[in-house]
Amino acid sequence: MANKVALRKELNLQSTACHELSHALACIHLRLPFIDVRIGRIRHRKLKGKEAAGYVQRPRYAHVKDEANFWRREIVMALAGGAGTWALFFGRDGVEQDEKQVRNIVTHHLRVPKDRVDSFLKPFRKRATKFAQLPYIQSTMEELIPALVEKGKLTAREIRASHQKHKAFEMRSRHFLKSAMTKVAV
Ligand SMILES: [Zn+2]
Repeated sequence: MANKVALRKELNLQSTACHELSHALACIHLRLPFIDVRIGRIRHRKLKGKEAAGYVQRPRYAHVKDEANFWRREIVMALAGGAGTWALFFGRDGVEQDEKQVRNIVTHHLRVPKDRVDSFLKPFRKRATKFAQLPYIQSTMEELIPALVEKGKLTAREIRASHQKHKAFEMRSRHFLKSAMTKVAV
C-alpha cells in the first residue's frame, strides 16, 4: 500500500514536471523569457494563498513591441503544457488554469468574440501539439523530467543548455543522414 502511494506521488511529480517543462521549452522555442521552473508544493503571491503543483517563473514585461504577435506566442506557450503531458504521459492533468488563461488572452487581448474562440484556437492547439512531438523536445524532456523531480527546481540556464544540446545533436544526425544518403545515391 505504501508503495502504491509512493508510486502515485512519483508519477504525479513526473507529469507535473513534464507539464511545466513543456511550458519552459515552448518559451525557448517562441523566444519568450522565463527565469526558472519549480515543482512540489509551491506558494506564490499570484496564487493568493493557494498552492500550485508546479510553476514557471516569468519576468514582468515593461512593454511589448508587437502586441498581437506577442499574445499569439503566449497562447501557444500556454497550450504547450497540456500538449507536452499528452505527448509523453497521455494525461491531461492541470490544463484548467491554462485554458482559462488562454481564453482570457483570446477574448481580452485579441478581442475575439466569445462564440468564435474555439475555432480561433484550433491552429494554436495544432502548433502546440506539433511542438510537443518534436523529437529533440521529447529527448530534452527525457533528460530534464528526472532532474526536475530530483531537484524541485531548474534554472532557465540549465534548461536552455539541455535544449541546445539535444537540438544540436538532432541537427547533426539529420545532416549526417542526409550526406550518407547522398553518397549512396552517387
Ligand atoms: Zn500549465
